[in-house]
Amino acid sequence: MSNKHEKICPVCGEGCLRPQVGKNPVEYKGKTTELDLHYSVCDACGSEQAGPDQLRANKRAMVAFKKRVDGLLSGAEVRALRRRLRLKQAVAARIFGGGPVAFSKYESDDVAQSEAMDRLMRLAADMPEALDYLRRRAGLETTDPHWSDAVVPPFTQPHTLTVVSSSCPDRETGYRKCA
Ligand SMILES: [Zn+2]
Repeated sequence: MSNKHEKICPVCGEGCLRPQVGKNPVEYKGKTTELDLHYSVCDACGSEQAGPDQLRANKRAMVAFKKRVDGLLSGAEVRALRRRLRLKQAVAARIFGGGPVAFSKYESDDVAQSEAMDRLMRLAADMPEALDYLRRRAGLETTDPHWSDAVVPPFTQPHTLTVVSSSCPDRETGYRKCA
């Protein structure tokens, strides 16, 4: 029955694990939603289990939900903000702090940025002089080509922070539409 692309059930050692997507009702700070729940069911013994990739996807969905409830920038919004500032992930971490892989984790919803980090990013995005200050604090000259992944200098174009409004969902209905 099985082929090499399917995982053998570690419980019975005979069945194949069939990936499923269920619904996971969750609650956080009084807000409720249903998140996708990734797991697998053995077609022989019927046991339900989740592998590392499924566990990661489930955890990311929960982190993303908590970010929405807390009014923090989503992972996609952090990525969009960083790209609009023309910063590589490692350079953004030097400027804003959080450690070398912080932005990879924020942007993939592996972890939620702190409220302080969230405000700092919004401030830097709205105020070029604040970003310049942070760059100098990090020892990065604004003329240094290494901190930018674009050939054009920053702030030659408008960079209003339009993403912010989407992270402030309506208090009554903002969370029930989530997949
Ligand atoms: Zn089994």
